[in-house]
Amino acid sequence: MLPYDLPNFHVDRVFEYEDRVEIHASSTSTQAACPHCQVFSSRTHGWYSRSPQELPSIGCKIRLQLQVRRFRCMNPICSVKTFAERFLNWLPPYARRTMRLTPLMHEVSLALGAESGQRVLAYFGTQVSGDTLLRVMRKGGVETQTDPLRVLGVDDWAFKKGKTYGSILVNLETHHVIDLLADRRAETLSQWLKTRPTIEIVSRDRSTDYAAGIRAGAPQAIQIADRWHLLLNLRQMLERYLMLVYTKLKALPISAPYQAILQQQRPRFPRTGHEKQVAEASRQQRIALYEHIQTKREEGWNVTQLAKELGHHRATIRKYYYATTFPERNVRKSQSSMLDPYLPYLEQRLAQGCENGLQAWREIQTQGYQGTPHQVLQWMHMKRTEPSHFGREMTQLPLPRQNFSPVLPSSQQLAWLLVRDPSSLKPEEQVLLTHLQQDQPTQALYDMTQRFVQMVKNRRVEALNPWLLDCEGLGIVQLQSFALGLRQDYDAVHAALAYSWSNGQTEGQVNRLKFIKRQMYGRAKFDLLRLRVLAPP
Ligand SMILES: [Zn+2]
Repeated sequence: MLPYDLPNFHVDRVFEYEDRVEIHASSTSTQAACPHCQVFSSRTHGWYSRSPQELPSIGCKIRLQLQVRRFRCMNPICSVKTFAERFLNWLPPYARRTMRLTPLMHEVSLALGAESGQRVLAYFGTQVSGDTLLRVMRKGGVETQTDPLRVLGVDDWAFKKGKTYGSILVNLETHHVIDLLADRRAETLSQWLKTRPTIEIVSRDRSTDYAAGIRAGAPQAIQIADRWHLLLNLRQMLERYLMLVYTKLKALPISAPYQAILQQQRPRFPRTGHEKQVAEASRQQRIALYEHIQTKREEGWNVTQLAKELGHHRATIRKYYYATTFPERNVRKSQSSMLDPYLPYLEQRLAQGCENGLQAWREIQTQGYQGTPHQVLQWMHMKRTEPSHFGREMTQLPLPRQNFSPVLPSSQQLAWLLVRDPSSLKPEEQVLLTHLQQDQPTQALYDMTQRFVQMVKNRRVEALNPWLLDCEGLGIVQLQSFALGLRQDYDAVHAALAYSWSNGQTEGQVNRLKFIKRQMYGRAKFDLLRLRVLAPP
């Protein structure tokens, strides 16, 4: 009748309610060992009841009403007078639920976390608090992977974005996450590695901390610089270079095909007052950061120290550290305005001869435009071919400031252009590239860039030394310092080309980690996050 045993109990009655089933049962044991002196006693002192939660059955809550005996300890030298009988295999003393529930709670909390786990368990008839689930999760732990670890991937992940970072360790052969570390310090990694002597190969990013940690903790292992990170570093180097020569590139002579492309581009409309305020506030913050970093730089701080101090990503620190002036952003996307989606329509109306701003505003309002007429009038004012019928008032509106660069995309976008496979470029991108190639050093850097990309993608290890050598003669500071970095990390860079292992799948695991972290609503404690990431998916 019952879907399970109640060992040592006799079921007296079963009550069925709308929301639960109650099973009343009493203990049948006639003797029990005193937990203090282990001497058996059969002298009943009295009865008391316990009502623990039980594993739900067919979606129904099960409440046990147990009559349990209290015995008198008959051992004269025992300090205990009475004791309750114990059911260590399924109901620990004072437990409010039977042990049969624990594996369920453990599995659910690992898979869903405390918040969602609590809701799902309640749906299936188990009432349990989030705190209890957290306790169960911590106590239960996870089974650690026991496959022999030969090839390891190490990468960092942001625990608090821009503030604290942890490390993720992946078995690149089995694709299992082996562990999470609470930081990305060399010391922590080396301690961890020392307990895994079977490791032969470690793939990592370009961080010197990881390099030092692996050298100390797994000196036997071959270190491989991750190829994706090599290409990322290349692109970052290009951005630094382009930022510095940006003004020079803007002044390059404009060829007829490039002119044609520029004319096709519609100038973006200036942003609304609020959008501008937000952008300006964030710009002020970046300026403050830039100035702070420059001050520290003069005091002799290096990039690593600053990254630790400020908690920003090293790439950000490096950008500000080496910039000779404050690097303005040329991001196109953030320059969009509320009016942008309606511009094609406005252009069309204009072509049809409608130069009445208010009329156009009414029309796009019916299409969902939320802004004031002001922006539409301004736009019309800029576009109109004849003087406004509204007279002076409207024609005196200031012309929108052309706060975009009409000649060149941002240095970030240009860096992308330089690393891409030339055969994948669209015709207009090809024209832009030709435009940039008028500048001799940029042309030389482009050649080196393409050689590097081909070398890394096709793992042409024999091309590495000639490439490094050729960097010297060009006199491009950013390229030279990039090459110097590669030389200092030579063995790992060489291995990146000689071996096929890479951190590609580690990135995927970092994404899974981020997903779990978001599920934990920013309240993720490291140990709990670790358990959930290590639990098999
Ligand atoms: Zn005793």
